[in-house]
Amino acid sequence: MEKMIIVGTGCAGLTAAIYAARANFSPLVLEGHEPGGQLSTTTLVENFPGFKEGIDGPELIMTMKAQAERFGARFQYSTVTEFEAANGHVRVKLDDQWVETQTLIVASGASARWLGLPREKELVGHGLTSCATCDGAFYRDVPVCVVGGGDSACEEASFLTRFASKVYLIHRRDTLRASKIMADRALANPKIEMVWDSAPVEYLTDDQGEMRGIKLRNLKSGSESELEVKCVFVAIGHVPNTAPFKGKLDMDENGYLIQHKGTQTNVPGVFAAGDVADHVYRQAITAAGQGCASALDAERYLSHHA
Ligand code: NAP
Repeated sequence: MEKMIIVGTGCAGLTAAIYAARANFSPLVLEGHEPGGQLSTTTLVENFPGFKEGIDGPELIMTMKAQAERFGARFQYSTVTEFEAANGHVRVKLDDQWVETQTLIVASGASARWLGLPREKELVGHGLTSCATCDGAFYRDVPVCVVGGGDSACEEASFLTRFASKVYLIHRRDTLRASKIMADRALANPKIEMVWDSAPVEYLTDDQGEMRGIKLRNLKSGSESELEVKCVFVAIGHVPNTAPFKGKLDMDENGYLIQHKGTQTNVPGVFAAGDVADHVYRQAITAAGQGCASALDAERYLSHHA
């Protein structure tokens, strides 16, 4: 029987681990398919407080992990494949083995949805990203594009006009999915040019392997064209990593976990933190804050159910 299991090693999971370990709970922290979460795939993080010159995402994550280990957090490469909660007992299946725990913090994050084009993985960090807040400031006075037609795409396109010389907003239909206010804002921005009915078919790179443009297909006419851009921001939604908890933990219609009281889910002793329960802010610092809150909530739960 574990006292506390933390699922995920992004900012939320690692911050929960630091707090829980420092409170002597020796949490078992599970690193899944994407150890380190979204930060491990970014380059320079310039907006995490405390780092005047910025810090590399992977370095930030490794430092947090070392900090949690120093206080006694135990790390294990395991993926939760199933979850059960009945009669006050909570257990998770780690690969093939069931482990019971008094408290569980789900900080399994959300993964950016990608287009599925060739070379996508290797281009992340070389002109391909899913996070305008993280990477927008690197692309000053150059043309960039955003792919998507939802609130995220409109928000990111508007944000990017602060830096880029021009922002193409590429959408596969001729009406935006975004809420009216966000859509109107993007459509009224003189630095944003809409590219309707179009889908990316190929990333174009220069000799150094950096993004130089994108090939598009018009889905109505079938014609192909090239756009010169230095960065492609993919904003076609995120997928919360909640599959093992489906039907057992309350989720919204997009699969994000619902927090009922503080960070507690509908199951007593089970808490949610970070992007797995947050589709609005989705920042490293907000995830870290929730990780802290979830560890404190779990500690309180344990002190009442010792
Ligand atoms: P979303 O609403 O699901 O929109 C995804 C967009 O990407 C859609 O326009 C969709 O096109 C397009 N898309 C999906 N798969 C694609 C593909 N393979 N190729 C090309 N385009 C593709 O996702 P989101 O914009 O990330 O928003 C998620 C949730 O967060 C929403 O509830 C949103 O309101 C909320 N949100 C709120 C704010 C805010 O209020 N500040 C900011 C961001 C997000 P179709 O339209 O054709 O399906």
